[in-house]
Amino acid sequence: MKYTELSALGEFGLIDHLTQTIKAKNASTLKGVGDDAAVLDYGNKKILVSTDMLIQGIHFDLTYTPLKHLGYKSVAVNASDIYAMNGTPKQITVAIAVSNHFSVESLEELYAGMYLACKEYGIDLVGGDTTSSKTGLCISITVLGEAEEKDIVYRNTAKENELICTTGDLGAAYMGLQLLEREKLVFQDTNQPQPDFAGYEYILERQLRPAARKDIVQLLKEKEIRPTAMIDISDGLASEIMHICKDSGVGCNIYEEKIPIDYQTYKMAEELNMNATVCALSGGEDYELLFTVPLDKYDILTALPGISVIGHTCKAAEGCRMTTRDGNSFELKAQGWTNFTPNNGQS
Ligand code: ADP
Ligand code: MG
Repeated sequence: MKYTELSALGEFGLIDHLTQTIKAKNASTLKGVGDDAAVLDYGNKKILVSTDMLIQGIHFDLTYTPLKHLGYKSVAVNASDIYAMNGTPKQITVAIAVSNHFSVESLEELYAGMYLACKEYGIDLVGGDTTSSKTGLCISITVLGEAEEKDIVYRNTAKENELICTTGDLGAAYMGLQLLEREKLVFQDTNQPQPDFAGYEYILERQLRPAARKDIVQLLKEKEIRPTAMIDISDGLASEIMHICKDSGVGCNIYEEKIPIDYQTYKMAEELNMNATVCALSGGEDYELLFTVPLDKYDILTALPGISVIGHTCKAAEGCRMTTRDGNSFELKAQGWTNFTPNNGQS
């Protein structure tokens, strides 16, 4: 028997491989694996379901992550997948595996953060599971949401010649992570008690306490704009655009100069000798929304706060490309984050 290494498939390849033979047995399973959330049909409202897991040492480092922030983030990233379907999150179940190094007080902090996020997104915590762990803290949350069938937006329904839009700004969470990692090393080397975060508060917050874009989903509804396809940006812009394009059978051209990047992200990237565009394309954990809309929505969209038009879809044969500031064009690569490649981060 020949064994295949996980790195041969990568995260997305592995998911495809393990799930390709699934055939839904129930008429109520409208959409299974393959989008931000599954869609179930239980009467008038459709139910959206998604799970995300956070593991100590892979997704978070407790030397610099306050537990309250971690609790908030673990709920927000789940809510984000429901908003990415144009739905409303309603309930979560929370499973934690915890070692006896943790005190009751520290877990109270974790839950204080979760409850704060639940309040902000209107979610009820309705159950879960608690078990012990020998290796560290693990948090797995399943979120249930609801939507009218006509409102649900999938990844695979973009058309040619539509606008590609993103919310907020990109690459900041990744730069925040780099800063935290750098200061951790400085601290270990020198034991200098005061890490230097001045001027970088925004990118730190983006890493430690990301928000799900409930506001944008509401704004688009108010303006009666229904995206044709949507996904949340958890693995970097390039990877998410390619999910939409591949699943929808279209290509795309985005413009480097249109990608929204915050000043602090630029500043940190420069300090670390990194390219801010690459951070936006391949960093992760921004939890912004990426969506497509028909061309005739251009004027309304550009007038809205917090939304940037970054390019357009085209024929699949033209590929997924980015035009750089100096006018060159190159093919996007979907790296995402693969847990299975050595020295790489999260997903
Ligand atoms: P997201 O980044 O939006 O959370 P993922 O990339 O994690 O989505 O997952 C893509 C799709 O694959 C989703 O539909 C998800 O439910 C499904 N999926 C992920 N991991 C597994 C697994 N181990 N078994 C079955 N389905 C999975
Ligand atoms: Mg998602």
